[in-house]
Formats: sequence, structure tokens, C-alpha cells
Amino acid sequence: VAINLGYVQDQKGSLIVSEVFGQTFQGEGPSLGRRCAFVRLGGCNLACSWCDTPYTWDWTGKNGKAYDPKSELRPLSPEDIIDRLYSLDGGMPPLVVFSGGEPMLQAGRLALLLRALGDAGIERHVETNGTVTPPDDFDPNLFDQYVVSLKLASSGNEIRDAIRDRAILWYRNTGRAVWKFVATDMTDLIEIAALEKRYELAPIWVMPEGRTTDVVIGNLRKLADPVSKARWNLTTRLHVLCWGDERGR
Ligand code: SF4
Repeated sequence: VAINLGYVQDQKGSLIVSEVFGQTFQGEGPSLGRRCAFVRLGGCNLACSWCDTPYTWDWTGKNGKAYDPKSELRPLSPEDIIDRLYSLDGGMPPLVVFSGGEPMLQAGRLALLLRALGDAGIERHVETNGTVTPPDDFDPNLFDQYVVSLKLASSGNEIRDAIRDRAILWYRNTGRAVWKFVATDMTDLIEIAALEKRYELAPIWVMPEGRTTDVVIGNLRKLADPVSKARWNLTTRLHVLCWGDERGR
């Protein structure tokens, strides 16, 4: 998968970063509420219609606004990123979440940073769209958890781009994956059930789509009973409830 980083010059060994921020709480999924920092990497190979981080990839205005990659992204070395994490208010938290964009587009360059964090006893999670198979020499144990958010038809992506057998099996075979789906209605839940069956996915977390409190709560209430009936887990979007859609929180 080619990484589209707009016009930002690539630099050997560096990661292309959108933002490093914290302390905050993990707002979604199995670690909801945990104190953490985020490293948000630039570039994405998909284009979800409801994406809440278009500033990491939308250079043409596909989702309504064209962002400038020269002001949104910067190359940072692993050392720079570690310095930034230690300089956060409250210092280095016990958990660092790599998100994006699609962070696994840069998997080959993450090893050094992930190893250093692991050696310091910091837990490392990644939020990925599950379409990118990392390079053969990528050690799956470099992340403690893979939160794999496969995209459904309602995301607006072509299914052939969003559901990729080889990548899904790679993440499943790590033994460290949880599967998080953004949903609004029964059509989404039916699609999740089909994917669960086809790829034997577990555990599954369902998250309401929404960038405002009202939309998140409205979708949560619609989804709660059917999600429970399907024996899946349900998550809210804590950062939206706490801070709205504010960036860097
Ligand atoms: S995969 Fe994630 S970052 Fe990429 S467009 Fe979809 S929601 Fe946005």
C-alpha cells in the first residue's frame, strides 16, 4: 500500500507525525478511560466519510475541507517522539496509543520506538484499519494490543479496499487483536456478524459513530440491545462526551 503523505518530504528513519498529545484518556474500546498519550501518525490509505481525523490525510477536500500537509505533518525521529512524550504535562504515561491516519503504513519505521518504549515498561497499543500487512520482519510482539477497526460499507470505502484477507489474518494471528467496529444501525451490525463468522473474529467491540454528544448517545441507545443480544462488547466515545470534537484531547 502506498503511503500518501502529500508534499511532506520523507526523511530516512523518521516517522511522519500529525500530533503527539496527552495526558488524556483512551476514549474508545477495551481500554476506555485509561490514562495515556497519543502518537498520531500521518497518512491514510482509506477515506471514511465520517473520519474524525481528516487533517491526517485529506489533502484534496474529499471530505469537505482540503488540509495542507505542509502544516499538518512533520517528520520526527524516534528520539524526538520519546522526548515529546516525556515532556508532556504529567510526564510519560503508562500507555502510549499509536493512531492516525493509518499508523501501520509506517510499521517498518516504528520498531525502534516501540522497542524503546517496551524496554521502559510502557504499554504500546495501536489503532489500525486492519488493511495493511506489515513487512515480514515486523515483530508482532512490538505492540501489546492491536485495536483493529475494519471499515464497513457505510464508511463509504470500496469493500475490496477496506476488507483485505491477508492483513486481517496477520492481525488475527498476532493473538493480540481486538476488533472494533463503528456502527449506526442494524445494517452495520449484520455486516459485523458476517465478518465475525468469516474470519472468526473475537473479541468484538461496537462503537457508535458520532462527533457530538447527542449523536454518540443517540446511536449508543439504538445499538445497546442488539449488541448485547449478539454477545459483543459496547464502547462509547469518552473524549467526545468530555470535550466534544476538540482536537488533541
Ligand atoms: S481509516 Fe481511520 S484515519 Fe483513515 S479515513 Fe478511515 S477513520 Fe479516517
